[in-house]
Order: sequence, then structure tokens, then C-alpha cells
Amino acid sequence: MTSIESARAYLIDLPVKTPRHDAIQSFVKQETILVELVTTDGLLGIGYSYTIGNGGSAVLAMLQEHLLPQLIGHDATEIEAIWRMLWASTLATTVGAITSLALAAVDTALWDLRCLRADEPLWIQAGGARPRVRLYDTEGGWLQLPVDELVRNAKASRDAGWRGIKIKVGKPSVAEDVARIAAVRDAIGDEIDLMVDANQAFSRSEAIRRAAAFGPYDLRWFEEPMRADDVVGHQMLRESTSIPVAVGESMYSVGQFGDYLARGAATIVQVDVARVGGITPWLKVAHAAEVANVEVCPHFLMELHVSLAAAVPNAPYVEHIPQLDLITSSRLRIEEGAAVAPNRPGLGIDWDLSMISSLASCAGSGVSREIREVDPVVQ
Ligand code: MG
Repeated sequence: MTSIESARAYLIDLPVKTPRHDAIQSFVKQETILVELVTTDGLLGIGYSYTIGNGGSAVLAMLQEHLLPQLIGHDATEIEAIWRMLWASTLATTVGAITSLALAAVDTALWDLRCLRADEPLWIQAGGARPRVRLYDTEGGWLQLPVDELVRNAKASRDAGWRGIKIKVGKPSVAEDVARIAAVRDAIGDEIDLMVDANQAFSRSEAIRRAAAFGPYDLRWFEEPMRADDVVGHQMLRESTSIPVAVGESMYSVGQFGDYLARGAATIVQVDVARVGGITPWLKVAHAAEVANVEVCPHFLMELHVSLAAAVPNAPYVEHIPQLDLITSSRLRIEEGAAVAPNRPGLGIDWDLSMISSLASCAGSGVSREIREVDPVVQ
């Protein structure tokens, strides 16, 4: 038995690499919540979670005050049992974003330990489907960018050998959205996949109206056309358009994905490993999607999702939005438009612990929060 003997959590605010605005929000900073677990056999597992600007302190408090004390003395290899124990202890606040994000930080640390102990990379331990996954670019398609910049960025991604490009939609007029889509499609030609993302901006009727207007541009998918909890609305949209409908980044439990799959309301699910509660539930969603003949194209977190997408057979794309460069020494390996899953043991993320430590110790600078050890509790 390899018991957890200490656990700690901390939060680091990372500035965004470039301004990122969509139809409903701005990605102002990445609140990065890290969890470190040390086991009795001397291994250190590091997991993480994130928000795009607020709520991180609530996630940190959930971890420090409630979840981490429960871990001490538990066998770190019993990942499913630990996930269930933590979930059962937080029923008063679930299903909810704060709890799921906190669970993810613990669960990813446990998977890091599992992979380190097995001396295998995550993509093998989680399934081992194939080592490379195609990459699509989101970083050049933000809503605030003028058309000429959208086109310039799209051409650069195409010339770099990438197979897909995503742009944001949700401008006030249909015509403006269509003009942006048409300009990019014209610039990249027919061989490159083009996706659009509304970030839940539309009503049912507006989503159906815009999908009809987007029809001539051979879109790979229409992402988050309306509120993520409107399953029936997505079902109606699906029945009205041939454009694949993608949802999932704003869903926080496996059950929500089950509703979409049961109704055939999504043709692509974009499960986010942090928001759904970790690798353990992420794999369940991916496998359920495979059973339903649905693709998985995970949201954000390319540094972790590259390994998960490589672990399953039904994940055709990883999303390119780099964000961890400040606190990692590893970089996503890209070959011929594909992301290559890291082959070293663990999650495949080389944390820069000295940089993390320096950021986390700069209290009052706006880039750090407290580091607090959890007192071991013998169980
Ligand atoms: Mg999105």
C-alpha cells in the first residue's frame, strides 16, 4: 500500500498570453490551482485545475479546508475509490463547478502518481490509442480581432501545417459573422477544417438562424451555440442543420454528457478534464461518446488533453491555446500539424518548480496566493 502522507494546494495567477475575448466573456488570467501529493514510498504527484479569471480562491478553499485532509492515509492507487469518497463528501455543493474543479486537481495528481509508479506516460496508462493527434488553432481567431488579422492568423496556421482553425462568432449582426467566416474560408481553401464558436451566446431561434447562414462554408463544427444546460435546444438545432454541433466545455458532470448523448443533441463532445472533475470522469465521457459514435474534441488545456486524446480512439483533435509556458519547461511537441503525446512517465508536464515557488511566494503582488500545508490526519 502506498499511502498519501502529505498534501498541499496553492494558486498561481498566470497572465494570458494574448488578449482573448469571445461573445460573452474575456479570458483575463488563468487561475492555476495546483495540488501536490506525497506518498509513503517517496513519490510526488502534481495535479492541477484552472479558471479563466475568478472563482479560483473558492476552489483553493474547498481543497484546503475540506478535500485534502480526507486524503491523508489513503492508498493513492485507489483512484476511483478516492474520487467517490470526495464526491460523496461534497454532495451539498454538487453538481457544481467549484467542487468539480477541486476534484480535478486531486484526481490529476493521483493519475500523475499512478503513471510515475508504473513508469509509463499518461497516454499509455489511460488507454494508448495512438501517439499523435491533429491540432487545431484557436489562438488566432478571437472575437475582438479584425477580419484582416483573422485572415493573417489563419494563413499562418495553415502554412504551419495545421489541419484546423477555429474562429469566434457572436457579432451583433449575422452579416458580420458571415463576412468573417467567408474571409477565412476563402483564405485557407477547402482542405482545412474551419470551426466556429459562439460561447453560448444565442437563443434557440438565433442559433438556428445563424447555423442556416453559416451553411455554405463547410464548417467542421458549430460550438456552444447556446446555453449549455439547454439540451432540448441543442437537439432542435441538430435536427435543423447539417453542421455538427459541439458542446461540453461548460459541463461539470458525467451525467450532463449522458443527457446530451441520450438525446443525440451533440455530435461532438468537448469534455474539459478540469471542469468535469479530472481524468477519471473524462475517460468515462470519452468512452460513452465512443459507444454512441460521437467524437471527443477536448476544450483547452492542451498540455494535458494531448495525452488523453491520444489515449482514446475517438478524439480527432486537440485545441491549441498555450497557457502554461511561464511555469513549465516542457512544450507541446508539434509534428506535421499533429500534437505528439509526451512519452515520459507521469502526466507529461515538466513543472518549473522554482518559478512556481517564486510566483507563489510573492504575496501581495497579484500573482500569488498563500501556500498552506494540510495537517496530516491519521485515519
Ligand atoms: Mg469554446
